Amino acid sequence: MIYKNPLALIGNTPIIEHEGIFIKLEQFNLAGSIKDRVALNMISELESQNKLNEDSTVIEVTSGNTGIAIAMICAIKRYKCLIITTDDTSKNKINLLKAYGANVILTPSEKGLSYAIEIARNLSKEPGYIYLNQFENINNPLAHNITSNEIINDLPCLDYLVCGIGTGGTICGISRNLKKVYPNLKVIGVLPKEQKDDANNHHGICGIGANIKSSFLDPNLIDDTKYIETVEVYQEYINLVKKGLLLGLSSVANIIVAKRIKEENPNKIILVISSDSGYKYLDVLDASV
Ligand code: PMP
Repeated sequence: MIYKNPLALIGNTPIIEHEGIFIKLEQFNLAGSIKDRVALNMISELESQNKLNEDSTVIEVTSGNTGIAIAMICAIKRYKCLIITTDDTSKNKINLLKAYGANVILTPSEKGLSYAIEIARNLSKEPGYIYLNQFENINNPLAHNITSNEIINDLPCLDYLVCGIGTGGTICGISRNLKKVYPNLKVIGVLPKEQKDDANNHHGICGIGANIKSSFLDPNLIDDTKYIETVEVYQEYINLVKKGLLLGLSSVANIIVAKRIKEENPNKIILVISSDSGYKYLDVLDASV
């Protein structure tokens, strides 16, 4: 199939069935993660309000997929892009952001993302700078109206949705729509176990447990939250690779939870959201081979 517009390659992701569990593979989006949908929606919304022009600089604070997605969309649409992230972000990610043409500001990791957010807020007071702010931007969860429709089209019945929580945009955006269509649906959030008692504890499950409360995070949309430890995720990551599934670490955490639900409820239909591919996390294999 030939596409003239690269942005048409965002969305319409496939679902694979693996050991009786359905997995929606968001790695098939153009820059490789579910955040392509969010970046496109946040930027399109600004465009429809005539708030962007060729002199605008789009700012975002992110250490991962959101930055990559925004830098990619800005490259396609020719906006300037400034990504603010902490100085412990991997060299590969920083190189990719720069390759897409983004400027990158690194802030001291000991000061956390909240310090980076403060810088973004201050900069956004300058003319021409627009801070997208995925933690407070309603177009983050609203991007998943489309994701939800895709799921509804593909699955006539659904009992469980398992989804990691970073900003909570994915889980809340999808849950709000799906609960109207599947009345008995249970929505299960996944977070790092290391953060259960102390939100500042370090963990290795990139993308979840952002430790910043989003304005749109609605606890009524999440029926239960399960906590998974980084070591378990690393083991299951390797296990899934052996079966031919190279999935991102947050996806693997979701699959661990889904397998437990499936064991107790073999006849239930379970969907896991897989936010990105395992290519970014190949370092995990260093310890195993
Ligand atoms: N997994 C990965 C790999 C991610 O990059 C993100 C986004 N930070 C999430 C899960 C969580 O998504 P959300 O911000 O929508 O909660």
